Order: sequence, then structure tokens, then C-alpha cells
Amino acid sequence: MQTGMQPLHISTPLLAHRPLSSELGKSVWLKMDNNQPSGSFKLRGIGLLCQRAVANGARHLICPSGGNAGFAAAIAGAALAVKTTILVPEATQESVRAAIRAIGVELIVSGAQWDETNQAALQMSQLDGAVYIPPFDHPDIWDGNATLIDEAVQQAEFDVVICSVGGGGLLSGVVQGLQRNGLSTVPVIAVETEGAASFHAAVQAGELVTLPAITSIATTLAARRVAKHAFELTRSHVIHSVTVSDKQAVDACWRFADDMHTLVEPACGAALAVAYQNLPVLHEFHRPLIIVCGGIGVDMAKLAAWRSL
Ligand SMILES: *Cc1c(COP(=O)(O)O)cnc(C)c1O
Repeated sequence: MQTGMQPLHISTPLLAHRPLSSELGKSVWLKMDNNQPSGSFKLRGIGLLCQRAVANGARHLICPSGGNAGFAAAIAGAALAVKTTILVPEATQESVRAAIRAIGVELIVSGAQWDETNQAALQMSQLDGAVYIPPFDHPDIWDGNATLIDEAVQQAEFDVVICSVGGGGLLSGVVQGLQRNGLSTVPVIAVETEGAASFHAAVQAGELVTLPAITSIATTLAARRVAKHAFELTRSHVIHSVTVSDKQAVDACWRFADDMHTLVEPACGAALAVAYQNLPVLHEFHRPLIIVCGGIGVDMAKLAAWRSL
């Protein structure tokens, strides 16, 4: 990080998951990034990208995202006092639109699908002084997300990291954080829901794959294709790719709410499910660190509706 720049994100607690630790006979650690002002880890990477863009002269930040990335970019833009426009697809929930507007940035509803929204954002970014803020595919995003591991190494000892994968910005940050803290030999368990498993498909195929469609309720993980960088990391780091069902992800959200009194999206429940289901991939490890990535697209009513899956 450049000196003299205060990060926009906060340091988050690392907690022991006591019920799961005793159930599994392991030390299960939780990096509680749901506590970020953005409700997800996204302020780490997107915050840093926005900060560097403004330091380099950007006068207008433009982010296409109807989810946690857009909300984080809104918070970053407001904190940096720079004009910020968040473009969201028509399907974006009213609660998310309201949350973004309440930050005081411009919200534009454009496009039926994210691809169209993204095209509109790219077009708008041609304007003088404007900078395009992607949701996951940028080195500054990975660099910022890596601070999660910089903190965690000061907080606990762990022998594997479990994180969910959408476009792979979180995974890329986790691996970068491990490598820059001398933990290149600590493996990562990369988790997706079955209907959003673009990383898993790439690993299986041995090359990047674009999924024809997303069929998971975990819309936050809905990148049809992961970042090339995230896929290429499988060649330099041990990454176990696993998938869980939507039901397993939602069950994990429910159990986590009971155990830790905290609501998280199914995108985050997917990572938690690896431990709640005690999947075989976990058996060889003794001190798993789960990235509690959080997410604002959840409330009691949604959790209840998903329960009937
Ligand atoms: C963005 C996000 C993810 C996935 O992160 P990627 O960088 O897209 O892989 C997972 N969970 C939550 C809550 C998120 O906001």
C-alpha cells in the first residue's frame, strides 16, 4: 500500500467458532469480514482500487454491480469525496438500490442482464476523468483483499483457508496474502455453489470456461467466467476446488445465525458449509480459517424463503 494513504476498510475480528471446533475436534477460526462498513470484504479491494484511482487523478468512479461490489464502491467514492456512479441491472432488489442511494452516490438502472449493465458502464467510463471500477478482475483489488490475510496472520495460526469464489477476486487476494506473508504452503479451499461453479468448471477443464447460465440462488457468486488470474493461481498454489448445493449453503447460514448471531449471504454460507458438512477435503487439516465474507443481500425474510429449497 502507498504510504500516507489511510485504508478505507477496518481491521476485523478473528473469532473461534466454539461449537464447530468441539464438534469437529479442530480449531475452527472465523475472519469476520462481514463487519466491514460495506457488509462484506469488498471494501478492502475495491476501496484500494478507488483510492489509487483518485490519487492518480480520477474525478468520476463508475462501477457496474447490483450487489456488494457496487455498495463497496459507493462507500469508497463517498469517503473519497469523488463523483461516483453505480450502475445496476433491472433485477436489482429495491433494498439494495435504496442502500446505495442512501450513501449519497448516483444510481443508474441500466440493462436487463449484468453484461448489458457492464457495457453501459464501460461506455460511460470513456468520459473525461472517469475510471471504470470492475467487481473483481484488477490487481489493486487483489492487493487490497490480501490485507485480510495480513491481519489474520497476526491473529491466529491456521493450516488452511476456506473462501468462496465468485469471479475470483477474493481468492486472488487470499493467495497473494498467503504468499506475501511466507505462507505459500498453506492451501486454500475454494468454494462455489453448484449452479455458479465457474472456477470448478475451469479447474476440471484445465482452461477458462464460460458457463452458459447461472442456476444458484447465491447470485453474489454468479460470475459466468472467473478472472484469468484466479485460474492461473492453481498452477502456483495448492487450491482445492469444491462445490456445495444451495441447500447446504443456506443450511450453513441458518446454523451460523444460531451459533454466532450473525446473518450472512448464501455466498458466504457456501464457505461455512465446508465445515458444517465436515466435507472430506477438510479432514487432513486441524486449524481451518474460514473467510466470513458477509454480504448485504440477506435478511430474515430471505433466509426463511430460501429454507424451503
Ligand atoms: C464478492 C463476494 C464474493 C465473491 O468474491 P469474488 O471476488 O467475486 O470471487 C463472495 N461473497 C461475498 C459476500 C461477496 O460480496
